[in-house]
Amino acid sequence: MNPTPSILDRIGNTPLVPIARIGAGLPVPILGKCEFLNPGGSVKDRIARAIVDDAEQRGLLQPGATLVEATAGNTGVGLALVAAIRGYRLACVMPAKMSADKRSALVALGAEVIVVDNAPLSSPTNFRNVARRLAAERGWFLTDQFAHPANPRIHEQTTGPEILAQCGGKVGAFVSGVGTGGTITGVGRFLKTHCPTAKIILADPVGSRLAHLVNAIHPDVDAGYQVEGIGGSEPPAVLDLSVIDAAERVTDEESFTMTCRLMREEGLLVGGSSGTAVVAALRTVARGCDGPVVVVLADSWDRYLSRPWMQQRI
Ligand code: PMP
Repeated sequence: MNPTPSILDRIGNTPLVPIARIGAGLPVPILGKCEFLNPGGSVKDRIARAIVDDAEQRGLLQPGATLVEATAGNTGVGLALVAAIRGYRLACVMPAKMSADKRSALVALGAEVIVVDNAPLSSPTNFRNVARRLAAERGWFLTDQFAHPANPRIHEQTTGPEILAQCGGKVGAFVSGVGTGGTITGVGRFLKTHCPTAKIILADPVGSRLAHLVNAIHPDVDAGYQVEGIGGSEPPAVLDLSVIDAAERVTDEESFTMTCRLMREEGLLVGGSSGTAVVAALRTVARGCDGPVVVVLADSWDRYLSRPWMQQRI
């Protein structure tokens, strides 16, 4: 008899649900891929398990080893779940601007949290550079979500096929923000092969430079914004810009207003970037789309409870 599945076996196979009220009257449905229902509350559980599986298969992890990751939170929570169950330690290096709620979730799961300044990638105190240095100095295993091929691969192997099957074999467009780029790259590669007419759309915060890199029609700006987990100044190593057909730029205000509508009108307890993705999805439908538009609902509202934008709206 198979042993009772662990919580890690509940990663993936997330529901796809209609965003029915907000999408009422549109020519094609908008469907939300409920990644916030993963056990750690985000899409990042998938890559956390995949990266640790890959390291174990290569014999890179001794029992009780320490994993280290540069994470704004969600990948850390996923890794903390995997580490707890598989018997590893986890250190997360996060920039100070990330929410206290994410930090609390990491601490609750037994991870060590190292908070560093909000420094640019060119600085030695940038969170990614600190994680790399700690790995080298202390012999910790750098899980390296921004560069690890298992990140896009797990989305190509699981998230993409799930979406296509849940849509009955036809997707009009797939809309996602980019943090590491793993989700859009993996799902994009799968859909370009198995449903070539599907459009792959980047949902990018106003202030991020990524939309400009997809299409120079968008301004080359590099400014601040409040939505967490997506956008950036430079394309991460795993991001394959060639799978992206177009970008939609969304303001913080639009994202947060839509996030609250998703909670109140759709019963979806999601974080800010889900609002960004749904605003981008509505624009995608308005531009014309042949088939359902799938949006990534990447994480859960409880990661943002202490944030002013949430406090002001709930
Ligand atoms: N984190 C959050 C909070 C997100 O909203 C998204 C995109 N929807 C991601 C991560 C996607 O991450 P990645 O590009 O690293 O796969």
